[in-house]
Amino acid sequence: MTAEPGVFIRAECLKCGLCCMETEMVLLPEDISVIVELGYQVQDFAVWSEGYWRLKNVDGHCYFYDPAEGTCKIYRYRPLGCRIYPIIYVEGVGPAVDDVCPLSDTITSEEWRTGLKLLKKYLRLLKRHYRMSKR
Ligand code: SF4
Repeated sequence: MTAEPGVFIRAECLKCGLCCMETEMVLLPEDISVIVELGYQVQDFAVWSEGYWRLKNVDGHCYFYDPAEGTCKIYRYRPLGCRIYPIIYVEGVGPAVDDVCPLSDTITSEEWRTGLKLLKKYLRLLKRHYRMSKR
């Protein structure tokens, strides 16, 4: 297996699962490849919606969220957008910290800087892949 655990910006997480409820997280082809390499089928964890591949919800939460354990089943390999969270991109506003996360006000300046770098990469890849797929 060539899938590598990805970097993530936060060491601290309450495992509340709020960010995994009714997710609309957009998946990069790179994310999909890593998850498929773990043995999952695309049709089980992703849906094509509004021009993007997105994480699929089951019973109101992400396919990968385990409510009994309060954990992500693919945590070390989770999609780039999930790793950047709670930093998000708000249309017309720009990068922001999602206040749905109970720890949103504890983001350090280092986490913000790392998050912004990853967010730029994520947006660049989204543009590249989804623009190409629409040609
Ligand atoms: S992939 Fe993991 S971290 Fe991302 S929304 Fe699903 S359960 Fe949550």
